[in-house]
Amino acid sequence: MILPGATIGVLGGGQLGRMFCEAARTLGYRTVVLDPDPRSPAGHVADVHIEADYIDQKALQEMGERCAAVTVEFENVPADAMSHLDRFCRVRPSPDALQICRDRIREKNFLRDHDLPTAPFVTVVSREQLEEAVDTIGVPALLKTATGGYDGKGQQLVTEPTQIGIAFAELGQVPCVLERYLDLSQELSVVLARSEEGVVHCYPTAENRHKGGILDTSIAPARVPEELNRQAAELATLVANHLRFIGVLAVEFFLVEGRLMINEIAPRPHNSGHYTLNATVTSQFEQQVRMLCGLPAGETALLSPVVMNNLLGDLWDAGPPPWEKLLRYPEARLHLYGKHEARPGRKMGHFNVLHPDVERALCISREIKRKLNETQR
Ligand code: ADP
Ligand code: MG
Repeated sequence: MILPGATIGVLGGGQLGRMFCEAARTLGYRTVVLDPDPRSPAGHVADVHIEADYIDQKALQEMGERCAAVTVEFENVPADAMSHLDRFCRVRPSPDALQICRDRIREKNFLRDHDLPTAPFVTVVSREQLEEAVDTIGVPALLKTATGGYDGKGQQLVTEPTQIGIAFAELGQVPCVLERYLDLSQELSVVLARSEEGVVHCYPTAENRHKGGILDTSIAPARVPEELNRQAAELATLVANHLRFIGVLAVEFFLVEGRLMINEIAPRPHNSGHYTLNATVTSQFEQQVRMLCGLPAGETALLSPVVMNNLLGDLWDAGPPPWEKLLRYPEARLHLYGKHEARPGRKMGHFNVLHPDVERALCISREIKRKLNETQR
């Protein structure tokens, strides 16, 4: 066990790294962030910010020597970075698990190999495979790059078989998966913690709404039959067990004609788990610290129904939003990530609305968003 007072670190200085550091500091740890950006959100709140590239071996060594353990805030860290760090300190999640989650081809094959349900897909690595791929999957279909995609980036919708070549070219002819475009009745996700002993603690299933490929709203508990809720937790647990995962993991689901399909696995806290910052006994970030340090898992029970609302950079079009309007609502809790520049589609923060009646929490959320959007400031 690595106890409070020790130093722990995170690779990556975005909002997830920042909230990890905040949770770690609350528990009395010292924190180190490695990120090349001098103005990174996590760098501001860490005890030490090592400003260097993720492949800078000297910087990695410094981090490994300063820290008792290091985790990641995103899966796109070079595998080499993790194995290099591994020589100096504890690294979680394991490089093996990261390698699967950072690559859609590996991820989808991993799910298929373990008989876990996914949308119909085929992998595409060269032009020669395009025609057969689109014949197999049909249209509409989504072509997604194997690596590097997030917030709907790295994806092309294919509505006619003849478009597949253009889509592949648009994505730079990199390895991809072609996936059936499904009529989703809902999107759900489960965040969980899995300990060294293999014990899994699931958070309540969240119901997620996306806009333009980016998460907009998460609602917990998800308004689905209890049986579906149980199935989602069961499938997420299977994923974590098969990966022999230690840490916090999120599984995204599609609900199609009453059936759950696994969309993606994130080997870290997840945007759809930000509701846990205010609405569960233990937040997903405190849980990440606990799993990294080998501490007992915290309680995941919901204290109140909650709606999490993302705040994207678009809201800053006419200057900083009128926060006082949001802060007047006793049910609302604001989280801003300290990003220096607002850009359209960039995640700048979120707010959680807690109310015993989840429908009411949704109404209040909408009302607040409307007020934040009012140009008359
Ligand atoms: P990202 O890494 O950008 O989150 P996802 O594969 O999760 O990539 O896609 C983002 C969103 O796009 C999903 O949450 C969903 O709303 C939509 N989407 C992705 N794949 C499909 C699909 N096969 N059918 C319908 N919608 C999809
Ligand atoms: Mg996703």
